[in-house]
Amino acid sequence: MDFGTTNSAVAVLEGGEVSLIPNAQGAHTTPSLVALTAEGDVLVDTAAERQALTNPGYTPRAAKLKLGTGWRVTRGDIRLTAEDVAGLVLARLRQDAEAYLGCPVTDAVLAVPAGFRRDQRAALVRAAGQAGLNVLRLINEPSAVAMAYGPHRDDCTVLIFDLGGGTLDVSLIGLGDGVVYVKATAGDSRLGGDDWDLRIVEHLTERVRRRHGVDLTGDFAATQRLREAAEAAKIELSAAHTTPLRLPYLAIGPDGPVHLEEDLTREEFETLTRDLLERCRTPVERVLADAEHTLADIDRVVLTGGAARMPAVGDLIRRLTDGREPYRGPIPGAVASGAVFQAGILTGEVKDMTLLDATPYSIGIETNEGTTTKLIERNTTFPTKRSEIFTTHTDHQPTAVLHVVEGEREDAARNRTLAVLELALPPAPRGVPQIEVTADCDANSILHITVRDLGTGNETAVTIDQATMERAAALLRSSRWAGLRGLAPATQAF
Ligand code: AMP
Repeated sequence: MDFGTTNSAVAVLEGGEVSLIPNAQGAHTTPSLVALTAEGDVLVDTAAERQALTNPGYTPRAAKLKLGTGWRVTRGDIRLTAEDVAGLVLARLRQDAEAYLGCPVTDAVLAVPAGFRRDQRAALVRAAGQAGLNVLRLINEPSAVAMAYGPHRDDCTVLIFDLGGGTLDVSLIGLGDGVVYVKATAGDSRLGGDDWDLRIVEHLTERVRRRHGVDLTGDFAATQRLREAAEAAKIELSAAHTTPLRLPYLAIGPDGPVHLEEDLTREEFETLTRDLLERCRTPVERVLADAEHTLADIDRVVLTGGAARMPAVGDLIRRLTDGREPYRGPIPGAVASGAVFQAGILTGEVKDMTLLDATPYSIGIETNEGTTTKLIERNTTFPTKRSEIFTTHTDHQPTAVLHVVEGEREDAARNRTLAVLELALPPAPRGVPQIEVTADCDANSILHITVRDLGTGNETAVTIDQATMERAAALLRSSRWAGLRGLAPATQAF
């Protein structure tokens, strides 16, 4: 299953062949949308999309990007978190799959952006649980695309550039002999086609303000119409050089009704969005640096995700890869098709493919009150498990406090806090206790941390999710934090 920011898709493996499953309307993609109506009904997918224009405040977009946050939408007695929304969309996909296959569907492989955080991954697994689905595996979207592209080729290195509605994922992948080997992955979890739409919305809002003296920023219904028109214009500009934007009766101004009548050229659109395009550059440069590859090492470039169809994106990638002509496939359904190969591997149906995926961020703990000591370096192939021994900072330290972080900075405070664990210690001089810390990144890239006092055998363990992150953030803000003592590398001389 590909639970996308804007649209979702499901694929199934039948006799070794991939089929995309049509939804009740016969389409191969389903809007990832849920809506709450004034009558207290909850609408899902196409039904939610049909009324989005008249009910924009209660048809939240991009719920996927809100997974792992405290976001929720409430109307009357109904209250939905991002996890609930994801659960409802996944339940609909499951129903469509069951209708198509004529049998119950209980297990799924789900694709996630490579840059998805651990808490977002854990939230999606729970959402699938709400939809009655057991998640066999989470697969990173670019890895899924590589699986669909086909590992049965001569050894080659492929750059996969996946720009969807809300996220950008870039991976450098080695293919050959049935193996998909992720060499490096990077991305921007806040950059997608929707950002290009918003630029057009801002541009048109400004035009209306200047021409008609009407401020549309607080007008929900007008903004929603602008958004839909903006997306359509963006898509049209991938093929045409100019596009008309006509929105009659957009609002009422001091001089009567405001009708929007604008033409947008591709050139204007590209000027409005130049900085967004520039942001696509960083992850491409980073995967090359991380994998210690040069441009000459890239054999092929694959562009995928709807927003990568913008001509400016193709031009940028051509420039960044020394003029290589990108292959724009194997869309549609690339992500879902790749995910289903992974399902086939797990169930034994696919025997001649292997996926070796890599972690997008380093995992470490704070030592010596401020420094990050890495346990798992970014771009390590997972599943992976690393242990290291640490010790105490001060004499008779009553507890060992483990501040677990994710990120590349040396200054722990500037990385993302994942958890804080506390382990009680018997009195001992500093440097004596042997405290083993284990970071276990499982096949779904979900992280389990264990801290164990080798002297007493006492241990405490946690699986990183939103709750551990929120608890840790609250502790870091509280005054109790100042009194707690962390760990030091066991190799440190006191
Ligand atoms: P995906 O999640 O891969 O389906 O990508 C969805 C995003 O791609 C949305 O922002 C769409 O507006 C955008 N999109 C789809 N088709 C095109 C196109 N032909 N040109 C530009 N953007 C597109």
